[in-house]
Amino acid sequence: MIGITSYGGYIPKLRLNRMSIFREMGWFAPAIVMVAEGERSFCNWDEDALTMAVEASRDCLRGVEKGKIDAHYLCSTTLPFADRSCAGVVKTALNLMNDMVAADFTTSLKCGTSGLVTALDAVKGGERKSILVTASDKRETRAAYFYEMWFGDGAASLLVGKDNVIAEFKGSYSVSHDFVDHYRGSWSEYDYMWEERWVRDEGYSKIIPEAVSGLFKMLSISMDDVDTFVFPCFFKAEHRKIAARLGASPEKVVDNLHEVCGETGAAHPFLMLVSVLEKAKPGDRILMAGFGQGCDALYFQVTDHIRDLPPRRGFKGSLETKKTIESYPKFLKFRNLIKTEMGIRAEAPTQAAMTVLWRKRKMLTGLVGGKCTACGTPQFPKMDICVNPDCNAFHSQEDYCFADEPAFIKSFTGDLLAVSVDPPAIYGMIQFENGGRFMADFTDCELGDIQVGQKVSLHFRRRVVDRERGFSTYFWKAVPIPGTAPQREEKDSIRFDDRVAVVTGAGVGLGRAYALELAKRGARVVVNDLGGGRDGADDGSEGPADRVVEEIRNLGGEAVASYDSVATPEGGQAIIDKAVETFGRVDIVINNAGILRDKTLVKMEPENWDAVMDVHLKGAYNVTRPAFIHMRGNRYGRIVLTTSAAGLYGNFGQTNYSAAKLGLVGFMNTLRLEGEKHNIKVNTVAPIAATRLTEDILPPDLFEKLKPEFVAPLVLYLCSEQCEDTGLVINAGMGYFNRAVLLTGPGTVLGSGNTIPTLEDIHKKWDAINSLEKAAEYPNATAAFGPMLDAFSPGKKESGGTTKKGLTVSRIFSGLEQAFQQDKAVGVDVVFQFEISGPDGGSWYATVKEGRCEVTEGSHAAPTTTIKMADVDFVKLIKGELNGMSAFTSGKLRVEGDLMKSQLIEKLFRF
Ligand code: NAD
Repeated sequence: MIGITSYGGYIPKLRLNRMSIFREMGWFAPAIVMVAEGERSFCNWDEDALTMAVEASRDCLRGVEKGKIDAHYLCSTTLPFADRSCAGVVKTALNLMNDMVAADFTTSLKCGTSGLVTALDAVKGGERKSILVTASDKRETRAAYFYEMWFGDGAASLLVGKDNVIAEFKGSYSVSHDFVDHYRGSWSEYDYMWEERWVRDEGYSKIIPEAVSGLFKMLSISMDDVDTFVFPCFFKAEHRKIAARLGASPEKVVDNLHEVCGETGAAHPFLMLVSVLEKAKPGDRILMAGFGQGCDALYFQVTDHIRDLPPRRGFKGSLETKKTIESYPKFLKFRNLIKTEMGIRAEAPTQAAMTVLWRKRKMLTGLVGGKCTACGTPQFPKMDICVNPDCNAFHSQEDYCFADEPAFIKSFTGDLLAVSVDPPAIYGMIQFENGGRFMADFTDCELGDIQVGQKVSLHFRRRVVDRERGFSTYFWKAVPIPGTAPQREEKDSIRFDDRVAVVTGAGVGLGRAYALELAKRGARVVVNDLGGGRDGADDGSEGPADRVVEEIRNLGGEAVASYDSVATPEGGQAIIDKAVETFGRVDIVINNAGILRDKTLVKMEPENWDAVMDVHLKGAYNVTRPAFIHMRGNRYGRIVLTTSAAGLYGNFGQTNYSAAKLGLVGFMNTLRLEGEKHNIKVNTVAPIAATRLTEDILPPDLFEKLKPEFVAPLVLYLCSEQCEDTGLVINAGMGYFNRAVLLTGPGTVLGSGNTIPTLEDIHKKWDAINSLEKAAEYPNATAAFGPMLDAFSPGKKESGGTTKKGLTVSRIFSGLEQAFQQDKAVGVDVVFQFEISGPDGGSWYATVKEGRCEVTEGSHAAPTTTIKMADVDFVKLIKGELNGMSAFTSGKLRVEGDLMKSQLIEKLFRF
């Protein structure tokens, strides 16, 4: 039995949403919208028909003994060389034997099926035993063209032989016509297409049926003997019609893959066949046809061996591994359809030395290094002496191919200065798990998705295209494997070793959850709890605090109990003294203790009002003040306050509690300013959790889902060194977290500032006064006062008297000194010059020296680095609406002078 023994597929990772072509070019070519559905595959800038052929072949050869392959046929109309055996390059990259036939089949879209027929005939004739037939195409078109929509890039491989046949070859029938539906002159870059109607009616519709009918007659079969019919035709309607005319019901016809990848030229019949073989059952009968200056029709029957094939990427895996992009210009750039300035560095010589390529062919094309026969150490490149310092044997190395060896990232960088079609150039050291390492370029990845320790696979890619001499050089690059980065837990876990934390009200509920988690992560904890009832009316007990201390000790942690009340200054002092006496310092305070005395205002006696104020609002003051003194001395502190939705948004019957809880937000707003220069961060949590405070408020089913443990991660993060934010209010519960802020509307001006507006003026302008459209958040009272002053400053009024809304460039610079992070400026001596263009712009410079920052309006004589931006972009950047890196790469942000120093800005200022 002869037939197909294995298959493999490869579609490049990149897909272009066809609508993005229409969106950019629909004004010019509106009709292309008719075929703009789905996405087309396209090669990364370092891929071509040859590299795709290597990938498809590797997929096909999984589990196959390479030494048994005695021929390789490479079929493509877009090979990168007109005179250099491309099959020979693929063969070398795959490390196949030298004593074999390596032949290119080309110049017709049916070269794939013709190569396959030739291979099957050669095996049938007994001349060859096992032939690898690979089809691959990357066809170019001009921009905004129907064919640009129809085409896709891809490759597929079929191994033909006698052993373990998965699809038995039953016969083939070919017709050959000099039917020129399209052609590409040997000096042309693009195909010349004849009218589509004629191609459909005279070409596809007549020539495919001719070959299929010939095959049926030859084998005495009919469409009844076919389960699946595979043939390419990018005209969707015609594809269905041809099949129908040949008697194939719609369920027999394999989709032409327009929506998922587009037509992949010579590779398309192969790719479609691979999509069928992936799902095929033993016994399935497959009819396959390839079209182009005639037609080849082949008939196969699937065997039981199909079940024994090892897993592979194939067509399905290729579809799953994709990245869809919306940027049509990127597609054009990758295909060299737009000329961009590549800079002076791109002028470096690119000539490849054929002598070196020949001598080092195994290393450069096959990624072959050495393995020491004395000690077994692999190394790349292969050398005369073993790298193992305990071995250092001479001439002991045998060939060792690294291409399929497991590897991971040891180090990497993104280089914006290196020449790259897709900056930044990403490269780094990759370490092979079984030994050996080398510096590799990375491809098919984004800088932000890579991590040290992440696994990579190696892929044959184009390195340099020498357009002057028409030569492409190739080498192996690393592709980071998504989902294989080391678990963050192991690498980046947030710890509190050497930190001392005070948690008030930690005997039960939320406080207990915080204390336990802090201790688990290394903190030494003061577990404070008065041990009173829900309303705080009784004398309390030591039990709750003691129990939590015991729990922590049982877990191997360190903790001490404190039974003092937060409600008095003495109590607060005693709690902090406990921390300092027991553990020597205090780094973290979580003000969590709380009681409830709910009543409507009329029934709210002063006693209930005061009791709640004492525990919540005064309690935070009583504990935080002595702690702050220690933290200031240590130049480190993390303070968390506990507010509530009742305070932020209001809750019936809780005027006392709401007032105290929102009072804490005011406390934070100012304390964070006082803490800033001492590296003390103050944040507030608004929890929602099932505790005794909420047991009669929350419905039972919700109560179950609201474990305090869901709030703890947020509170612990706010207590960590990693949290550099201050002054935030975060709602937390059930694993849902969101930030709450106080917004200030843009407001309006009534009168000139000299005349007092009347009540009637207020009435008339009420909507504008009340409006929150474009409302802003302010960092402090001075900044909030700014718009009011601005409103009356000359030249700052807009027509109609309204002030400029929200953040302005001048306001950013007036707040720059406040945003300065003193602790990050040790040893920094720079002058940042800002040149902001546009109506709101101007020149400012910031001088950072000896831990201080001074901002001056105007231009500095010798700035270290100059940042140039438009006013709108600069405001967006500061507001976090524009990413710095993308602003830089898109040209919105220009840097002159010391580029490296400009990167300090992000570290030195926090807005
Ligand atoms: P809880 O009643 O379970 O725990 C509060 C703890 O504070 C108790 O152990 C109590 O003994 C202690 N305490 C009371 N007065 C004290 C004092 N004077 N000194 C020292 N300890 C004292 O309540 P919880 O739900 O865990 O609440 C913790 C904090 O979260 C409170 O500030 C509360 O207002 C706030 N909060 C809770 C929710 C929620 O859904 N549970 C919602 C919003 C805000």
